[in-house]
Amino acid sequence: MSRFLLFLLLMLVFLESYAQSHSHQGMRALHYPNIEGYVTLKTDLHQHSVFSDGEVWPSIRVMEALRENLDVISLTEHLEYQPHKADIPHPDRNRSYELALDEAKEHGLLIINGSEITRSEPIGHSNAVFIQDANKLLNDKAEATFREANEQGAFVFWNHPAWYDQSPSGNPILSDFQKERIEKGELHGIEVINTFDYAEESLALALKHNLTIMGTSDIHGLIDWDYLEKGNHRPITLVFAKEKTLESTREALFAGRTVAVYNSLMVGREVYLKPLLKACVEIKSAHYIEDTQIARVVLENNSSSDLTFENQMPYNFYSTPPVFTLRAGESKTLNIKTLEELDKLTLSLKALGAYTAPRTQPVIDWEITLR
Ligand SMILES: [Zn+2]
Ligand SMILES: [Zn+2]
Repeated sequence: MSRFLLFLLLMLVFLESYAQSHSHQGMRALHYPNIEGYVTLKTDLHQHSVFSDGEVWPSIRVMEALRENLDVISLTEHLEYQPHKADIPHPDRNRSYELALDEAKEHGLLIINGSEITRSEPIGHSNAVFIQDANKLLNDKAEATFREANEQGAFVFWNHPAWYDQSPSGNPILSDFQKERIEKGELHGIEVINTFDYAEESLALALKHNLTIMGTSDIHGLIDWDYLEKGNHRPITLVFAKEKTLESTREALFAGRTVAVYNSLMVGREVYLKPLLKACVEIKSAHYIEDTQIARVVLENNSSSDLTFENQMPYNFYSTPPVFTLRAGESKTLNIKTLEELDKLTLSLKALGAYTAPRTQPVIDWEITLR
């Protein structure tokens, strides 16, 4: 081996060990399986830093996301609400994005440039992500801000539609302004989960107006204090993208290929939520207990959500209640009384923590070969 090659090799070893020592992955990394044809990207596209009313520097948002194993984030500073501006003057509204980008460049985390359009009702708050230049969104007229965001190619979604500050009933009210934005194709998504709150009324709006289903943390303080220390994860949006790139993420968001997740709660269109749940549960083994008609099936949950199921089969369980929880990352054995020995069995379970429409939970089938 030439000296030059040896040098290159040593450099690679050094870089590799440096990359490892520079990892930010924490104890509670999030994991969700891919579904057929798509990679499952874990995203949080609504966050704040000191560049609007958040409490932390943008690099902390990147490190938090890496600790939780997210794939894509956006810092969406309020355009119109800037309480730290006297202390942190920043004439360029893209600075938060640029600082996050700088921190993320040594890692696999994708950063999207975004802003929160922040108006009182009936306009409300909306995030524009995949913008090119946040400065150009500043405008007295909200209509002009939406138009500019769309001209920049942004994906725009309605934030916390059920927020009681703007809707005292705690239910979303779709205003004429928003109806007009939807008609013009300028509003593309809606948060059904924001912070700790899920609104099925927002899900109903998503389905009625063909808006992309979103879940976000809207974090202002620390993810650790608000979520992890309490035994929770932040709300995220799982985006089913053709590949892990910014352009594929954008394409998937416009196509509505998402599931909003907050711990054990999963909300999404049936066409994506069902394959996700199916992929979350792996059948590890299946065979009859000797000299019985009791099929012993071992399930493993390879997601970070606890999954609660209700038996939908014509057969009963031997030693498990009809409703049971398969904890995140754990296994469980079901003993199923099939009354006669079968070659194949359809394991049919309703996912009680998952919603494809208001109060509608999907039934998932797994085809099992018994031997
Ligand atoms: Zn807001
Ligand atoms: Zn916000």
